[in-house]
Amino acid sequence: MKEYLSSYEEVLREQGSSPEGLSGREAAERLERFGRNKLKEGEKTPLWRRFLDELADPMIIILIVAAVISGVTAFYEGESYADVIIIMFVVVINAVLGVVQESKAEAAIAALQEIAAATSKALRDGKLTTLKSEELVPGDVVLLEAGDSVPADGRIIECASMKIEEAALTGESVPVNKTADVLNLGGEKDVPLGDRKNMVYMGSTVVYGRGAAVVTGTGMNTEMGKIADALANAKEEETPLQIKLNQLSKFLTVLVVGICAVIFAVGLFRANGSDGGINGDAVLSTFMVAVSLAVAAIPEGLAAVVTIVLSIGVTNMSRRNAIIRKLTAVETLGCTQIICSDKTGTLTQNKMTVVEHSADDEKILETAMALCSDASIDPDTGEAVGEPTECALVNDANKNGLPKTKLMEEYPRIGEAPFDSMRKMMSTVHKTKDGRMIQFTKGAPDEVLKRCASALVGGKAVPMTDEIRASIIKSNKEMADKALRVLCGAMREWDKAPDNFEPDYLERELTYIGLSGMIDPVRPEVKPAIVECRGAGIRPIMITGDHKDTAVAIAKELGIISDASQAITGAQLNEISDGQFKEDIEKYSVYARVQPEHKVRIVTAWKAKGKITAMTGDGVNDAPSIKSADIGVGMGITGTDVTKNVADMVLADDNFATIVSAVEEGRRIYANIRKAIQFLLASNLAEVLAIFFATLIGFTILEPVHLLWINLITDCFPALALGMEKSEPDIMKRPPRDPREGIFAGGMGFDVFFQGAIVTALVMVSYIVGHYVESGTWEFTNSHDGTTMAFLTLSMVEIFHSLNMRSRRGSIFTLKTHNVFLYAAMLVSLVLTTVVIEVPFVAAAFNFTPIDLHEYAIALGLAVLIIPIMEIVKFVQRRLGV
Ligand code: ATP
Repeated sequence: MKEYLSSYEEVLREQGSSPEGLSGREAAERLERFGRNKLKEGEKTPLWRRFLDELADPMIIILIVAAVISGVTAFYEGESYADVIIIMFVVVINAVLGVVQESKAEAAIAALQEIAAATSKALRDGKLTTLKSEELVPGDVVLLEAGDSVPADGRIIECASMKIEEAALTGESVPVNKTADVLNLGGEKDVPLGDRKNMVYMGSTVVYGRGAAVVTGTGMNTEMGKIADALANAKEEETPLQIKLNQLSKFLTVLVVGICAVIFAVGLFRANGSDGGINGDAVLSTFMVAVSLAVAAIPEGLAAVVTIVLSIGVTNMSRRNAIIRKLTAVETLGCTQIICSDKTGTLTQNKMTVVEHSADDEKILETAMALCSDASIDPDTGEAVGEPTECALVNDANKNGLPKTKLMEEYPRIGEAPFDSMRKMMSTVHKTKDGRMIQFTKGAPDEVLKRCASALVGGKAVPMTDEIRASIIKSNKEMADKALRVLCGAMREWDKAPDNFEPDYLERELTYIGLSGMIDPVRPEVKPAIVECRGAGIRPIMITGDHKDTAVAIAKELGIISDASQAITGAQLNEISDGQFKEDIEKYSVYARVQPEHKVRIVTAWKAKGKITAMTGDGVNDAPSIKSADIGVGMGITGTDVTKNVADMVLADDNFATIVSAVEEGRRIYANIRKAIQFLLASNLAEVLAIFFATLIGFTILEPVHLLWINLITDCFPALALGMEKSEPDIMKRPPRDPREGIFAGGMGFDVFFQGAIVTALVMVSYIVGHYVESGTWEFTNSHDGTTMAFLTLSMVEIFHSLNMRSRRGSIFTLKTHNVFLYAAMLVSLVLTTVVIEVPFVAAAFNFTPIDLHEYAIALGLAVLIIPIMEIVKFVQRRLGV
């Protein structure tokens, strides 16, 4: 059936539905039959493929080559295969870790997408229900309003000036005016998709008005489904830090491979025996030194640690109501300098109550306000449901004996010009008992008043005079100064139904009725959040469609401004050039009576000043400003689909304080990742230096498998745990981080170098002691005891040093928090180290010898030294302020 060629009644019949929608039971049955309303996802990469992908890393290839060579040598020399087994074990573990961390990150993002999953408003069992768009079935009646993404294909059954943008399907970005009527084909047999004005299609967006449609196609049975046969799985983009780290890793790999090649070549040259033959043992040992160096220099576990910490951070944020949609946002959040926030619902509770009227006849005002609203009274609770401003008006009328249901019976609505934030008003036209028509308009007083030609005075419409206008403006100001949101009601009488319901046609020559003032209490948690922002060097800015006086009163209450001169209106903004605005932007913290396009100007100007700017938005026209902000923030409760789809982060509770806690979380995650990076890199450097000096002197301090074990196994647990560290107490007392700063900023390069050098010294001393105990000489030759002790010291230093890393500058003895993950990780690493050294066959595989108690005590004692040494270093650093 071509639904667009039939009347909607026929389509409803065909779909076995009615204007009241389906019953819950019927819908459940259909869901079984038709499946979920979603597009097929692209093929997932199979597990074995992911595993192989992990092996395609130059570092891993070097290791596999090393294993093969060791294997071949062991075969010919009749030695044990321990090295081969250990190297392959580490390679496999590394690949498994890689697959696991990727899956974990994907799962975290998928879980968030689930939380932020699109919802639809459908009639089930005759009641308006919000459900996941995935659960829609053919026959469902869905309600659509400005800002909604159309969740499925459907035939329109009711339409109030609904305009839909269908660019995704037709490429045409001009919104299409929709209708519920049967199409007039003008002699043609069929019409292209773009002309099917009585249909709505999945993937398009309602940009104006509202309507209802009966679903005719879901999932792959939609026009969208036909185009996008399978939706490719979009790969999560990497964060700036991950990109920088990848670059660092690549650089290290190239450097190391180069150096190793040189060492190997020199070794080969030297191994050329005097008899012209090649000394196989020498070649092998040179090769192993080259491999050791490669293993030592490359932080194998780093990428995994960073990704895991980021994905755990993202999950933590979602628990605190900040749903991250783009992983990159986590980092940018930590750099936020400006937060531009909507007022209503984000800074305030969006729980409005009418507390004041100013009208010649309050009954008429209340009737007008209630009728000119889309909110209705829920028969079960007796409370209004709908948009909060309108609920306040409907509740107010109800309280004063004018229930909306009764009013609607008396004055049925025959047409409307829906609300939009550009006009800041809406109008409805109603039929009266005597067959005449009456129009009610409500909206922002300044806007409505411009269109009033008369005013109700003493029950009669009298021409508008300057005097009356001045007195209305005065009442408006009095209410606004008390932080009330003021709406104005007006009316217009028609002898017959208007020819059309275009706003321009309806909204003129109105008769002013009166003003309603409502309170919208501020959210209690916002005030402290604003104090916190200031401490953290972040500037909060209020942007609102509301009146300037209301905005100023609320901004003062919240501590955003201290003086009305810091507020500016959209109209004033229009008078200023972009250049001038950029000059003056620091002056303003409150923008009132703005339109969505002003928000783009505000973001652009701040960004031009080099400030990292977050911007909230909910309405259909807010998408451009959310997109252009560094952090676009969507609203989970009141936000439209359009804004949520382009946002970097969605607030599940629409709350300003949540943005601030997300910033804190962003700072914490970044700081922790840096700690983990510093910890791992210092360890790598220590290994490189130790091998470098040992090779220079002419002995083997540690073998590749030892380094692999430390880098990939013992180091990773404490590094991950450092990523879980709680915020340091002053984290929101520091200024925002400069997003351009590199990985080694803030003296981290020096720290890595210095700490690496200290660890090298401790490990070398440990080796020398071991060598002495074994051989009784102070020569520098190969020594099993020495290697065993060096390994023990290095492993233990790492375990103790992870404690130091809890704070980059603060003493660990003054930290008030505990990181139980770290304690557990230290324990795990300790157990693993003991296993490697103490379990005989494992120790043999690693070429370790049993060492005596003295040696143990010395190796451990040297390792513990890292704590007092670092305390002294940090003390000096604090003193020097570096
Ligand atoms: P924010 O502070 O988040 O910008 P806002 O509600 O003030 O929210 P808009 O929704 O753009 O911003 O509304 C702008 C103005 O339009 C309001 O100040 C009010 O005067 C008027 N208005 C809001 N809702 C309605 C409505 N449902 N009907 C008529 N007028 C409305």
